[in-house]
Amino acid sequence: MPLVIKDTGGYNYVMKPDLLDIIVCPLCKKRLQLTVQEQNEHEIVTGFLFCSECSNTYPISDTIPNLLPPQAVS
Ligand SMILES: [Zn+2]
Repeated sequence: MPLVIKDTGGYNYVMKPDLLDIIVCPLCKKRLQLTVQEQNEHEIVTGFLFCSECSNTYPISDTIPNLLPPQAVS
């Protein structure tokens, strides 16, 4: 099991459904679409956030959304 890197540059949220109102794509600032794979009563445990604007997918694992842009290593 890989450890989740929790230092994601300020986006250290636990993923809750109402976070969708707050979280935007770090690249284009558009709203993200949530796909839930597993959730408990409070949080989304695993899933994906998808940006239809720039077609990037951000994984959620262990309730932590990873909003690092996949190719933004600059
Ligand atoms: Zn985007």
